[in-house]
Amino acid sequence: MQKFDVVVIGGGPGGYVAAIRCAQLGLSTACVDERLDKGGKPVLGGTCLNVGCIPSKALLDSTSLYQSLANVKDHGIEVGELRLDLGAMIARKDRVVQTLTAGVAGLLRKHKVSWLKGHGRLAGQMRVEIVPSESEGTAGTVEADHIIIATGSEPAPLDVAPVDGERIIDSTGALDLTEVPGRLGVIGAGVIGLELGSVWRRLGAEVVVLEALDSLLPAVDTDLGREAARQFRRQGVDIRLGARVTAVEHEREALRVAYEDAAGAQALEVDRLIVAVGRHPHTVDLGAEAAGLSVDERGFIDVDERCRTALPRVYAIGDVVRGPMLAHKASEEAIMVAECIAGQHGEVNYGAVPWVIYTAPEIAWVGETEQAARARGAKVRSGRFPLTASGRARAMGETAGLVKVVADADTDRVLGVHLLGPHVSELLGEAVLALEFAASSEDIARTIHAHPTLSEALHEAALAVDGRPIHI
Ligand code: FAD
Ligand code: AMP
Repeated sequence: MQKFDVVVIGGGPGGYVAAIRCAQLGLSTACVDERLDKGGKPVLGGTCLNVGCIPSKALLDSTSLYQSLANVKDHGIEVGELRLDLGAMIARKDRVVQTLTAGVAGLLRKHKVSWLKGHGRLAGQMRVEIVPSESEGTAGTVEADHIIIATGSEPAPLDVAPVDGERIIDSTGALDLTEVPGRLGVIGAGVIGLELGSVWRRLGAEVVVLEALDSLLPAVDTDLGREAARQFRRQGVDIRLGARVTAVEHEREALRVAYEDAAGAQALEVDRLIVAVGRHPHTVDLGAEAAGLSVDERGFIDVDERCRTALPRVYAIGDVVRGPMLAHKASEEAIMVAECIAGQHGEVNYGAVPWVIYTAPEIAWVGETEQAARARGAKVRSGRFPLTASGRARAMGETAGLVKVVADADTDRVLGVHLLGPHVSELLGEAVLALEFAASSEDIARTIHAHPTLSEALHEAALAVDGRPIHI
């Protein structure tokens, strides 16, 4: 029986990063993954590269370009009639995915990680059984000194709206529509619902988002959330809050979505419906419980702060464990676990995990919101800077948004940074570094920011914490 120092189950941003880091540290490593691409071939990269972060961003970038071209007149640019070739747009997205997933396979080869193609199942005594897919794979059982479970997550089903892959689709189906729906319903105004709703809205669909909660994006700082909701509505995305979907009926030409809101029973007719009510951990036929792992009531594998499970030398990382379902969180846990296995001292700063919602404007944040900090009794000072006062945002013609810095009133330590605007996902790195280095708002205020850039808005918001912004 083949034996490895480490066997990783799952080849997403948790699993493949763990495998590479283990190999870098001199450990013999295998990575088991069962995923097949659209053509039925084994593929690495997990949800993120195949049906998550990357394809959604490819479509958001393409549709943002399409929309910009329709609005360039103000810049003195006249374009002829715009024509959408949806097939070509989807094919481009697929090429982006293929290039990146092939790149991951290349990285595993470079680091001499064995890619075991098939379903991995815990078989007791530190063994993993591999069940190959019908098309291709590696059958057999391997032994491991250490096992890292990185089996990720999948879309959560909604009983009243079962996905049929035709008219009722999940996030994966929403990345591959062959025509722009006339009327699109989205159930769930979470990150995925808003991003995919935006893609199809930009291409002309009438989009209605039904959200059971009374507030939009409760994790987002209220100042930004309110402004973001205003912008989405201006773009024509009809967000209905406090709207709980109770039934979906197939009619001849359409879907009839029944929902309840404060006013009582309501109904909506749509052509296509995206179910985006969250994701749940993927442990199907993993043999987790039989192997002695403890799993919580929502299906997440229980781990401690170093991602150790109830079993010695078995770890679990990424979407299959507690914490935000984000690719970079999975990858950081991967590096931590690999380093701990190699006898080093890896750790993850869960207080500085960045979040981004890639809508227009983008919403990006790290650390605490002002409301959360106050709710735990902290004394805070905050500074805001609107993009209407930013020279660069004016030059771009994209002034919707603001930057907010939240700091401890006594120590001035930055507790959170909240950004709303174009490309703010790229500004967020500075804010994450500020939190990681325990910076004060004064530190950011004394850091020179290039002019004219959007980053000056962060500089000004930090100055505003102390009541001394220059440009407002
Ligand atoms: P996954 O990426 O889910 O990978 C797990 C892999 O393991 C899969 O390939 C699965 O097939 C395989 N597997 C499972 N069980 C077994 C088994 N028993 N044997 C063998 N293989 C198995 N996150 C961000 O940070 N930024 C974004 O912009 C973003 N956008 C997203 C957009 C969408 C539409 C979706 C759906 C998700 C998005 N996410 C985003 C979330 C992100 O994709 C996940 O957080 C991330 O993929 C989790 O990584 P992971 O390695 O834990 O799991
Ligand atoms: P997220 O978990 O961030 O992807 O968001 C999923 C969203 O779907 C949450 O905000 C839920 O409140 C919402 N949701 C869940 N079930 C329903 C339902 N039956 N009708 C409308 N919204 C729902």
